[in-house]
Amino acid sequence: MSATFLGLPPFPEAAREAVGDSQTRHNLHKATHTIRGKRDAVVGELGDDWQRLRSAGEQVKTHTLRHLDHYLEQLEESVRRAGGTVHWAADAAEANEIVTRLVRETGEQEVVKVKSMATQEIELNNALEAAGITAYETDLAELIVQLGEDLPSHILVPAIHLARSQIREIFLDQMSEWGVPAPPGLTDDPKALAEAARVHLRELFLRAKVAVSGANFAVADSGTLVVLESEGNGRMCLTLPETLISVVGIEKIVPTWSDLEVFMQLLPRSSTGERMNPYTSTWTGVTPGDGPQNFHLVLLDNGRTDVLADTVGRQALRCIRCSACLNICPVYERTGGHAYGSVYPGPIGAILTPQLQGMSSEADRTLPYASSLCGACYDVCPVAIDIPEVLVHLREQVASSPGHLGEKAVMAGADAVFGSPKALDAVQRAAGLAGGNVPRHLPGMAGKWTDTRDVPDVPGESFRRWWNEREEER
Ligand code: SF4
Repeated sequence: MSATFLGLPPFPEAAREAVGDSQTRHNLHKATHTIRGKRDAVVGELGDDWQRLRSAGEQVKTHTLRHLDHYLEQLEESVRRAGGTVHWAADAAEANEIVTRLVRETGEQEVVKVKSMATQEIELNNALEAAGITAYETDLAELIVQLGEDLPSHILVPAIHLARSQIREIFLDQMSEWGVPAPPGLTDDPKALAEAARVHLRELFLRAKVAVSGANFAVADSGTLVVLESEGNGRMCLTLPETLISVVGIEKIVPTWSDLEVFMQLLPRSSTGERMNPYTSTWTGVTPGDGPQNFHLVLLDNGRTDVLADTVGRQALRCIRCSACLNICPVYERTGGHAYGSVYPGPIGAILTPQLQGMSSEADRTLPYASSLCGACYDVCPVAIDIPEVLVHLREQVASSPGHLGEKAVMAGADAVFGSPKALDAVQRAAGLAGGNVPRHLPGMAGKWTDTRDVPDVPGESFRRWWNEREEER
């Protein structure tokens, strides 16, 4: 069975362990700073146009989400008109059941896969495996993760946590289990590793009759699906097999090709730091004699309509999965993606996962706290998702749930003190009298706060008191 995020420890526990791994921290620091530098350069060269582009992206997404019912129906009609079949999946189980059935109907027992967050979210590979169908990941980083029985730790670069020497070991140990083995003298030179993957995958591309993909965008008025990738492996899957099944989140819609144009500029610059994406594949239904002759689109909800119902949290559905917020985040840089316990790591994961899954588990409840609220994620987000605003909104929901009586009592006390000048003066006076006797480490719940911080020295006299006495003396 493929690795799963299910049952991983909550963020604070996982993060504590992750920051102790100096090799991973080194790999992450190097990789995130490199991508960050490239992104800054290509965004910077647009000057003020970048903010206008960003605002256009935000507006297109906001408009589409507001009229999602209309655009979904339009997309369905366009795909059907172009010869495709549309399926609706309310949740992960239904989507997995549909894909498994469609693959079975072809009589095949294997599929090649284009890198796709939606299929990872529903753990499609595990569902297919349980039905006796092997799913082969073909994106280089996804291949590394699959061969290593690992979990992805970054949206764009799933194997960001691994060094080249570790990848070489995985190829040498595991490739033969899945198909063409790695050459015995394989080095950790990037070209040699890429060549080993190319030879391994080529055989699969030529053999496979069924492919499974996601999509970065779905254009409602033409029924066109769009995949952006850097290697060309996705294009092999999208063109060679006889059947193509695309699992796409319902928020991926853009109304027209003109709207798509905005994102074709925003996404490459924000994700890989390139002006233009290297391989952009588009397909519209079925074209006789060209490409897959059976096309199925599975439109996935899996919690998205619940997110849409939240007036603050819904902005997370604007996300175009560029990963700029991961690369800039000081927390992600130190913990890596596994600590978030979800296919969506980093700042976007901290707001998307608890909304998609609900906050019934301890792991999901800790995610909105996996941030310093520095705001860097908002600054770089190409569709202007105010991630800190959503984090605070979700924290409010966590704090309002049963089991947070202590926190609520402290906040009610703070409200009473800061809302009354007399009460504030009394507390300041008492603290001043206690002076150096205030303990550095507070007892009980408050001890969690002072575990990592020193209680500051309390001055003998408050500023207000000093000011009032000074005024009286004049
Ligand atoms: S939240 Fe914004 S910055 Fe982060 S992945 Fe999504 S679009 Fe990119």
